[in-house]
Amino acid sequence: SVPLGFFGGIGAASKKGILVKGGNYLDALNHLDTVVFDKTGTLTKGVFKVTDVLTEGGISRDELLKYAAYAESCSNHPIARSILEAYKGEINNNKIESYEELPGFGIVAKIEGKEIAVGNGRLMKREKIKPGRRGSEIPGTVLHIGINGEYAGQITISDEIKEDAKVAVKQLRDLGVKKIAMLTGDSRAAAEMVGRHLGLDEIYSELLPEQKLEKLEVLNKEKSPGGKLAFVGDGINDAPVLARADIGVAMGGLGADAAIEAADIVLMTDEPSGLVSAVKIARITKNVVW
Ligand code: ADP
Ligand code: MG
Repeated sequence: SVPLGFFGGIGAASKKGILVKGGNYLDALNHLDTVVFDKTGTLTKGVFKVTDVLTEGGISRDELLKYAAYAESCSNHPIARSILEAYKGEINNNKIESYEELPGFGIVAKIEGKEIAVGNGRLMKREKIKPGRRGSEIPGTVLHIGINGEYAGQITISDEIKEDAKVAVKQLRDLGVKKIAMLTGDSRAAAEMVGRHLGLDEIYSELLPEQKLEKLEVLNKEKSPGGKLAFVGDGINDAPVLARADIGVAMGGLGADAAIEAADIVLMTDEPSGLVSAVKIARITKNVVW
């Protein structure tokens, strides 16, 4: 038979849609100890659907959706796509007077002379907008909307766990991975729903991009001696963590360009179990290298 070697391993991986940017990463996979996942777009499909809308202060549901959609119309975040889908109307770009995306918070924009803020509770706090009195009964990610500094309502969006995420977690355990954790910018409730379902060991939520990096450093220090840590993510906010991890793994299909660039391994199928396939290829490769 043809000896594989690390180059052969890279070739074998690429046939499965796994792009490995160097033989040293296959070597590192042979010592995989800790796997850390991002949530949105990595463990979940990143395809949100609007599942609830609550208004406050007399605004109509349609008006609330309209302002949220205008604010989100310049964003590439999976959240933005879901809001635009639910709004269905046309977006007239001339009405957007200013626009700013704040990673880990949401959007602030000026539309038809109104100051619009769309994002999480942290954004409301930052904009000094008092939270609403009602909360949704439906589990999911909650987006709050402020108009001219007043709370105007909330939109609940729900995402689905990838079938493959469950398979990947189980197989990583079978391979002997010691710790499987999640780092997400999303709310605690949304994070725990996904993390518990998958049986993850540690779940860290409501993290800003720089806090994801800080948590990764802690997990790095907790590794077994000689063990390696892989981080798997898809977003712009994951790029620093992907660069810092021993093995950075990005989703190649729907992942952000910055994530793909920062990663050491790219999974073209967006399936987390691609990491398991990569470990298996690394093991075979090692056996034929020596
Ligand atoms: P994750 O780390 O799970 O991939 P992100 O860091 O991309 O999540 O987003 C974290 C949180 O920041 C979101 O759950 C949301 O509350 C808020 N957020 C980020 N981008 C937007 C946006 N375009 N519109 C509204 N909220 C946003
Ligand atoms: Mg993500």
